Amino acid sequence: MILGAGMVGITAALELQKRGYSVAVIDRRGPGEETSFGNAGVIQAEAVEPYAIPRDVDVLLNYALGRTNDLVYDWRALLRTAPVLLSYFRNSAPKQHKQASALYSQLVRRSTWDHEPLIEASGQHNLVQKSGYVHAYRSEKAFEQARQRADALAKNYGVGVKIEDGEALRLSEPALRRTLAGGISWTDAWTCTDPGGLTAGYAKLFIRRGGQMVRGDALSLRKTSAGWSVDTEEGVIDAAQAVVALGPWSADLLARLGYRLRMLLKRGYHGHFDSAIALNRPLMDAENGIVLSPMSRGLRIATGAALVDRDSPPVLRQLNHGEKVAADLIELGPRIKEPQWYGHRPCLPDMLPMIGRAPKHDGLWFDLGHGHQGFTLGPTSAVLLADAMEGKSEPLLSALAPAARPSVLL
Ligand SMILES: Cc1cc2nc3c(=O)[nH]c(=O)nc-3n(C[C@H](O)[C@H](O)[C@H](O)COP(=O)(O)OP(=O)(O)OC[C@H]3O[C@@H](n4cnc5c(N)ncnc54)[C@H](O)[C@@H]3O)c2cc1C
Repeated sequence: MILGAGMVGITAALELQKRGYSVAVIDRRGPGEETSFGNAGVIQAEAVEPYAIPRDVDVLLNYALGRTNDLVYDWRALLRTAPVLLSYFRNSAPKQHKQASALYSQLVRRSTWDHEPLIEASGQHNLVQKSGYVHAYRSEKAFEQARQRADALAKNYGVGVKIEDGEALRLSEPALRRTLAGGISWTDAWTCTDPGGLTAGYAKLFIRRGGQMVRGDALSLRKTSAGWSVDTEEGVIDAAQAVVALGPWSADLLARLGYRLRMLLKRGYHGHFDSAIALNRPLMDAENGIVLSPMSRGLRIATGAALVDRDSPPVLRQLNHGEKVAADLIELGPRIKEPQWYGHRPCLPDMLPMIGRAPKHDGLWFDLGHGHQGFTLGPTSAVLLADAMEGKSEPLLSALAPAARPSVLL
């Protein structure tokens, strides 16, 4: 049984099913209705280096003084998560970050390749575009720095990059109202106009192939003599093996099983706008910490990170600022009325997803902590998880295994 029907859980279910296992997915909601619903929709084959905490003093000072839109925080939440943040900060040092990137890049570089057969088999080509993703810069200084970093990523990891100066960017994105300093076009990235829809479509494929999708409460998971049981709307479900893929809620279940998972939740919001002229690709307004993604339900503005308690009420400062600055770039149109969405990137402080056997329980597996790129990494993590469950061993699996991460899983 897989606990959690986000992109990570559904793709794990599909992979195990493909290898001949009988699989049930348990979720309290429908598939792809939480974090996998509301993201920016980019399958980020370019994101070879995981998102580190900046170590530049000026940047940190700007964060502390609330001068940026890409990160806001609540002091009390910050204090409560201090040990996780400290560990994340330490792992963001150049040497540790380089080591993490060497592993992370192996995952993201194959992500589109792992999505492809699922997109094909679920018949969802209409939701996925293969024309890349662009980071746009307003100032020459920021553009120049980004260009240098992009050149390094192209050289070190073979990432596809096209540099567009202000004129070229305006030509490739006629919806832009004015000429910016320039853009970095990440040509390997794929983008999706309905991330929740893609996840739900993968779930339909899983059901069509004989999988079972059931509503139930993962927190009812308990050990039995034969394996694991969970309560669902269709009665008790038993399985020899259970996989925790609960995204931002994973730590809740793990705590009941005697583990302390250090997870940092970075909240993000989105809103949709009925814009008359569409962007051709998702565009990150890098200096304002927002991504503008053309979606089937309108132009989606997705925000950066808010370090707040998971269950605290929404505060729309970043989204409102995002709306203001985006209106300066394109004809936004009116905001589409809908319930306010927000979700949490489930980040582990060593910036790697945790995939593999639970250290203290037989038949229990983890596939969680995908942070900023879970929509990208679901299918790739699924292959690694299934390999681990089948007893394969390789250096990448060992590095991602829960047992190898004593500072993250206590
Ligand atoms: C604003 C924003 C933008 C992002 N943009 C991108 C992007 O462009 N590209 C990218 O790759 N990633 C992006 N991400 C990150 C990505 O969305 C997440 O990493 C990914 O969705 C996590 O998937 P998941 O399956 O682990 O979690 P989820 O999709 O949250 O799935 C977890 C599931 O567990 C279920 N659950 C929880 N508790 C219980 C319980 N007690 N019982 C039963 N079920 C339960 C939930 O209902 C949910 O369905 C973004 C995130 C945010 C917030």
